[in-house]
Amino acid sequence: MKSWNGPTVWAFLDYILQIYAASMKPLELKCELAECESTLPPHRSMDGRCLASLPKAELHLHLEGAMRAETLTELCRKHGVKRPMDTRGQRFADFSPFASCYIAVCECLREKADLERLVLEVAEDASASGALWIEPALSIDLYADQFGGVEATLHLLFQAAEAAEEATQVAMGFIVAAERHLPVARAEALAKKVRDVVTSGAGIHGRPGILGFGLHSDEANHPPEPFAEAFHLACSDLVVPLPHAGEFAPTGGGAKSVRFCVDHLKAVRIAHGVLAAEDQELVEHLAKLQVCLDVCPTSNELLGVMPVTESALTKLLAAGVPCTINSDDPLLFGSSLLGEFRRCRDELKMSDEQLAACADLIQVIEEKENIGVRQVLGPIEGRRTKLVIGAVQSLELTVSLRFIGKPQKNEKIAELHILL
Ligand SMILES: [Zn+2]
Repeated sequence: MKSWNGPTVWAFLDYILQIYAASMKPLELKCELAECESTLPPHRSMDGRCLASLPKAELHLHLEGAMRAETLTELCRKHGVKRPMDTRGQRFADFSPFASCYIAVCECLREKADLERLVLEVAEDASASGALWIEPALSIDLYADQFGGVEATLHLLFQAAEAAEEATQVAMGFIVAAERHLPVARAEALAKKVRDVVTSGAGIHGRPGILGFGLHSDEANHPPEPFAEAFHLACSDLVVPLPHAGEFAPTGGGAKSVRFCVDHLKAVRIAHGVLAAEDQELVEHLAKLQVCLDVCPTSNELLGVMPVTESALTKLLAAGVPCTINSDDPLLFGSSLLGEFRRCRDELKMSDEQLAACADLIQVIEEKENIGVRQVLGPIEGRRTKLVIGAVQSLELTVSLRFIGKPQKNEKIAELHILL
């Protein structure tokens, strides 16, 4: 407690004590958020809290795959592009409908206004799901030529992110990803451009705009090994390796792919990674290194990896592997961040404690201390705290408390429950 600072914190704690006093009587307060599906039960049970008001980070979200369906329709009309079929909620037999939708989105990103609209709407949708921090991944190689190259496109995206942050209070940093179905040389060229942009100091509101280097698309036919040099070129203290792995590998190859990314690319987070659960030794390895898996349950289900009800998420969490919950490609799957949390509660029977752990804001703050994310998120926190207090839901309140204060490495949620 002594590490907390600022009058706001003490006023907040004072408010909590008032709530605590009030809670001696049964409470029934409704969350202020319109999207909230729940009313706090009078007995203040630990489960069934409002998921919308849980402050979240979304770390596995593709910018292009997060375009709104109606925006894609409008942009296709505007630019004379054939509108691909709507795949939301459909199961994918293979990657081809997925790829054609992605190609159409990238063809529709032709003007600065298109990028600005996309970034703003993604931030708005994140806000509606209760996210404060997002890390959209960019398949920038597929449309950068429309804007004069990768560097010029990144600068436009940074400007769009600044405007979106001011409008929505959702802060973001981008992951630039290589496409593994394209030549390795192209990935290495992209990596050098990433390094140059990061070295130039360009970013979002004075902080780095690129936080990670990723690897997208067909894992089964394009394993990560040949891309090691690209990761070496792109990554630094500020840019971490964030490859997709353990999603679509050949039978038995998912764990191998994850292990390579962790041991050789030095990935601290893996996009998906659920197939790691097939190898108990690897699971223990991930837990020991605290490598975080950014899991997308609906995406896994619709791409035939595993149904939500059988997701490896709970097994991985139980084994001590940090995981986050994410929407991946809302345009393709019809998913949303809040929807994923709901599915994990309803179908995977995850507890509120597990869900809060997967919201991951604390980890984001710890990992990104060096780029000032705590300062960026600070003003936003005040707004969320108000919402959380409106919901009077102890777990969200606890997360928010930890968010205000300086998170301690071994701090446990249960210890802070005592405050309530
Ligand atoms: Zn993904």
